[in-house]
Amino acid sequence: GSTIGMIGGGQLARMMGAAAARLGYRMLVLDPDAACPAAQAANGQIVARYDDVAALRQLAERSDVVTYEFENVPVGPLRTIEGRVPIRPPAVALEVAQDRVVEKAFLNGIGIPTAEWRAVDDPQELDHALLQLGGDCILKTRRLGYDGKGQAVLRQGSPHGDAFASLGAVPSILEKKVAFTREISVIAARGADGALASFDPAENVHSLGILKRSTVPAAVSSVVAAQAAEVASRILDHLGYVGVIGVEFFVRADDTLLVNEIAPRVHNSGHWTEAACLVSQFEQHVRAVVGLPLGLAARHADCVMENLIGAQVERAGALAAEPATMLTLYGKAEARPGRKMGHFTRLTARGDA
Ligand code: ATP
Ligand code: MG
Ligand code: MG
Repeated sequence: GSTIGMIGGGQLARMMGAAAARLGYRMLVLDPDAACPAAQAANGQIVARYDDVAALRQLAERSDVVTYEFENVPVGPLRTIEGRVPIRPPAVALEVAQDRVVEKAFLNGIGIPTAEWRAVDDPQELDHALLQLGGDCILKTRRLGYDGKGQAVLRQGSPHGDAFASLGAVPSILEKKVAFTREISVIAARGADGALASFDPAENVHSLGILKRSTVPAAVSSVVAAQAAEVASRILDHLGYVGVIGVEFFVRADDTLLVNEIAPRVHNSGHWTEAACLVSQFEQHVRAVVGLPLGLAARHADCVMENLIGAQVERAGALAAEPATMLTLYGKAEARPGRKMGHFTRLTARGDA
């Protein structure tokens, strides 16, 4: 097949489009915004909502495989095109990743530890769960949270009466706050043939709930790095996954790992792969979904990736002048606060790995 149908037209789709074009594939984007970031990198666009069944059917008819760039693709409408075209990663990956309770139950069910958690559907359940978990906790909406939105930190003993209402009184999850020493993520891939490949873990720092910086290599031992890769592989195998996944981890002082969440797509903390690996996460995803062999995920440089958020995009001119920096801009017109406008990856050491 030679046309990739892409649900979502943000910067992730834009970067996958560039990778697809380099391998000779076409990308057809489904997005309601005709001026979405991926529009410039795509060979065509269906301008429609993600839950528009007729538009999805059109996407299926004009594509050889359908994939997506965000985890909130409406699963019901998507399932109506199952059987018409391969959907990669499979819809079950969306079902698991869209609901934090389903996600944690899935992970724990395959032996992968997470923060302790309780499902919370009303204020009484919140009281009960706070008593059971004890200490500091984080209340999160089960669905639709991103960049730390839809979360409330509940400190032991402090009033929490309206925390549930403040999140919109929607089905939620209470998680015990993890005392982590660092956060890492693994970007991993599973090919159509079941082959597995993972990039080196990145160490991530967030600011105001948004990823600020990813540093590679992460300051973890090779044992911890291998454990993280094994966890990612287990998740991919259990989901019968095809494509790239992002797995976020907490590392504790005793070097044990907890999974925070999974993202069934290319991931912001994997943008560095474009500058420091022969095959980037974007190309790896394209390779997986079209059925090509996975590429080499080895890293040939140490690096630091930083997001350009809102007005930080004004740094672009100076960054473009840096000799060892790869700059990527998403082509968004308005630099609104909190909006991801671009990123850069600065090589900090080069090797011949
Ligand atoms: P993303 O944009 O990555 O999808 P999100 O809105 O889904 O973010 P989470 O990844 O769940 O949010 O949480 C955002 C950040 O908040 C985490 O990276 C971590 O720094 C902190 N955090 C979340 N849950 C916990 C927890 N249980 N214990 C400690 N810190 C946490
Ligand atoms: Mg998330
Ligand atoms: Mg997260």
